[in-house]
Amino acid sequence: TQPLFAVYGASGCGRGVMPLARAQLAGQCIAGTRLVFIDDQSAEPVVNGQRVLRYAEFLQQEASERHVVLAIANSKVREQLAARCKADGVRAWTVSASNVVRMDDVELGEGAALSPFVTLTSNIRIGRHFHANLYSYVEHDCVIGDFVTFAPAAKCNGNVVIEDHAYIGSGAVIKQGRPGKPLVIGRGAVVGMGAVVTRDVPAGTTVVGNPAHLFSPKG
Ligand code: UDP
Repeated sequence: TQPLFAVYGASGCGRGVMPLARAQLAGQCIAGTRLVFIDDQSAEPVVNGQRVLRYAEFLQQEASERHVVLAIANSKVREQLAARCKADGVRAWTVSASNVVRMDDVELGEGAALSPFVTLTSNIRIGRHFHANLYSYVEHDCVIGDFVTFAPAAKCNGNVVIEDHAYIGSGAVIKQGRPGKPLVIGRGAVVGMGAVVTRDVPAGTTVVGNPAHLFSPKG
C-alpha cells in the first residue's frame, strides 16, 4: 500500500492549500488519487476534483502512512485536530508553494501551510502548524510560536516575537524590534487588518489602526 495525503478543511483555506498540495505531490511523483480533502461537515463528495472524506473515513482507507495538513484558519480548531491526528498516528504534513523563498537558518515546525509569494528570511524560529498566507513575510531573527496565523500580506519585520495562537490580519505591518529587545505580540492576540503595530501587543487583546491601539467595540 501507498501513503495517503489529505488537506483537512474543504472551505476557503483548504481550497487554497489543495493546489499547492497537489503540485508538491506531483513533484514527488505521487498520484493525485492519493490526495483527498477531509471535512466533517462538507455536503460535497468532490471539491475541485478531489474526493472529500470524513475524518473517520480517512482513517479507514488503505494506506501505509497518513499525512495531513490542517488547512483551517481557526488556530484553536487546528490545535484540537492536531492532537486528534497525533493520537491516531496521522503525521503532520507541511505544504509549501513552489515559489516560497526561505533563506538561511529557518527552523519551521511541522504541519505548516505556506502560500504563494511567502518569504521567510534568515535566522528564524517558527513553531507547529504555522499558516502564512499569500504575500506574507517573516523577517530576520523572529521567533514565532505554535498555531500562529498570518492572513494575506501580513508583514512581520525583524526581531519580533509572536506567541502561540496569535492572528495577524491582512496587510498588517509589525515594526521591527531590537536585538535583545524584541517587539512582542502576546499569546492569542489579534492584529486587525492593516494595523501598524509599533509597540508590544498584550496577550489576548485585539489591536487595530495606525498606530495600532486596543480595539474597543464602541470605537
Ligand atoms: N472543519 C472540519 N472539522 C472540524 C472543524 C472544521 O471538517 O472539526 C471544517 C469545516 O467543515 C469547514 C472548514 O473546516 O469546511 C473550516 O472552514 P471555514 O470556512 O470556517 O474557514 P477557513 O479556515 O476555510 O477560512
